[in-house]
Amino acid sequence: MLSDSISGNICFDYYFSLNKNYVYKEEESPEDFGREVIKNNFKNCCDINSENCKGCNALQEIKISQNFLYNDKLPFGYGRWYIEDYKLSLDNFIITHSGILISIYPSIRVINIKICISFEKVTSDQLIYIKQITFGDVKYTVYENEQKRNLSTNELFNILVDKMIKDKQYISEPETSCTLEIKEFNNYDNIEEILKKESKKIYGLLTGDEGWAFVPLALADERMKIHWGSRQFVKFITFRNNFLYFNLNKCNSARKYDVHQK
Ligand SMILES: [Zn+2]
Repeated sequence: MLSDSISGNICFDYYFSLNKNYVYKEEESPEDFGREVIKNNFKNCCDINSENCKGCNALQEIKISQNFLYNDKLPFGYGRWYIEDYKLSLDNFIITHSGILISIYPSIRVINIKICISFEKVTSDQLIYIKQITFGDVKYTVYENEQKRNLSTNELFNILVDKMIKDKQYISEPETSCTLEIKEFNNYDNIEEILKKESKKIYGLLTGDEGWAFVPLALADERMKIHWGSRQFVKFITFRNNFLYFNLNKCNSARKYDVHQK
């Protein structure tokens, strides 16, 4: 069997809330909450709401879709910072970029930390492995400026939280989710075709089940039944706290669509 070549992004999300005993500092409005904390603890960070942010590279697509959906302004207050202090690497797995996105929603007292990596030309089994280990024990090599450590994403998450909130009594246990964005899947340029020919493998990528090859097709289909998409190269599939997003925007059919739109 030929091995796959998949490129895209994977994001490990942690969400937690600040309980009602946590009070914002008097001098700071909830909208500004977090700004000083972030600036004081992270060397390379960009406030993506600020004038100075010309759209951090990794966030271009988030900004474009947010502006499209909400006409430049989200209907609720939030702070969002892109942190570039941490670089992740993993043996035998090509990581082209990594970064951390911290979003703070003061009105609902929720903080979201995303640990994101961009990968290139990896196999589906490697990705399934990554999904399995991520909220587990296997460690990435994490470079923090000059420092190098072996950390699981859970450990990295705890380090980030420690920098922001010293007293753990104020925060809830985190919830987690995983979003896998696939931008290239072998040479396919049509999601329907991928789902038809590689359905079990996609089931494996969605759920993290390394035994994907042995599941009955009906089960794979059942797990993938919640999905939506607008075009043959964009599709979103969800299962519990797993999200699989096909965004084949570099493929031939997408390029043709683009040309057609212009
Ligand atoms: Zn920026």
